Amino acid sequence: MIKKFWCFALLIVLCFSFSSCAKTKKATESAFCLDTMINITCYGQNASEAAKAAVSEIRRIEFLLSPYIETSEIYQINHNAHKSPCKISDETAFVIGQALEFCSLTDGAFDITIKPLVDLWNIKAENPIPPTDEKVNEAKQKVDYSLVTLKDGFISFAKEGMMIDLGGAAKGYACDKAVEILKSYGIKNAILDLGGNIYAMGQSEKKAPWRIGLQDPSGERGEYFDVVELSDLSCVTSGSYERYFEYDGKIYHHIINPHTGKCADTGLISVSVVADSSFQADMLSTAIFVMGEEEFEKIKDNFSIKKYVVVDKTNNWRAY
Ligand code: AMP
Ligand code: MG
Repeated sequence: MIKKFWCFALLIVLCFSFSSCAKTKKATESAFCLDTMINITCYGQNASEAAKAAVSEIRRIEFLLSPYIETSEIYQINHNAHKSPCKISDETAFVIGQALEFCSLTDGAFDITIKPLVDLWNIKAENPIPPTDEKVNEAKQKVDYSLVTLKDGFISFAKEGMMIDLGGAAKGYACDKAVEILKSYGIKNAILDLGGNIYAMGQSEKKAPWRIGLQDPSGERGEYFDVVELSDLSCVTSGSYERYFEYDGKIYHHIINPHTGKCADTGLISVSVVADSSFQADMLSTAIFVMGEEEFEKIKDNFSIKKYVVVDKTNNWRAY
């Protein structure tokens, strides 16, 4: 039997009413972008223009980094960088450069060249079926961040068939850029929600840090098991209960261990990371999901992270 579920809430923004400051202008913008629903609410003089500009910024990044948009730089790289070095923009070079550093720091648990495996598992298909070991091993040969050369604004791949997928990083990067845009409009208080990536600017309507509920993976939508308080911080969750399919009674989800070529399985079903940068928190939540907490604890000091919370398959949670 094959089943599949989509779009579970990962993080819940709590306490959204603002009675004490009725004169503050508030604006909310929503859009479907980067394969998820995004919601931005901000407060201040230019709230409406600011929220619109922030959404445009996220859309701009989608058009730069999506591997599915033919005009994007990532699409162009994926179809040409194995033939000869491709010239890329400073911004794309920055994102790929940061991500490659991250791949190295996590010893390849996070690997932006994961796309051949993402395509093979194809969990978005109507009726997905787990691939054979032979196919997995074939695709795995094309996944290795160390075979990417990024130098002087050019990028190249050492092997044909290699492809970049920034699905575990782009939302975080876009979130940080949207925050920059809001700041340029003078916004100090806002909440940005990019499907599992939250950034909380300043204070909530209660003149206190924003309160974000961590979705209980086995609870109803909106049921949370813990609350994190954020002020000028991001919280990002990676979970296996969000995008998956079931086949012959087994769950197959969207986070892949690049070393095995199969769905990451370290006993965790949810990882939430709190950090200054949403880009970092996004990559880290995916990486910790792949590595497991024990392995991550050994390299934790390499990262600027405020806190992380994991939930395991027996529904126990631990905060670090
Ligand atoms: P997230 O939901 O942020 O954990 O990101 C998951 C997405 O990142 C997947 O849908 C893939 O596009 C991509 N991805 C899956 N596994 C990995 C991995 N090990 N390293 C980097 N990106 C990955
Ligand atoms: Mg991520």
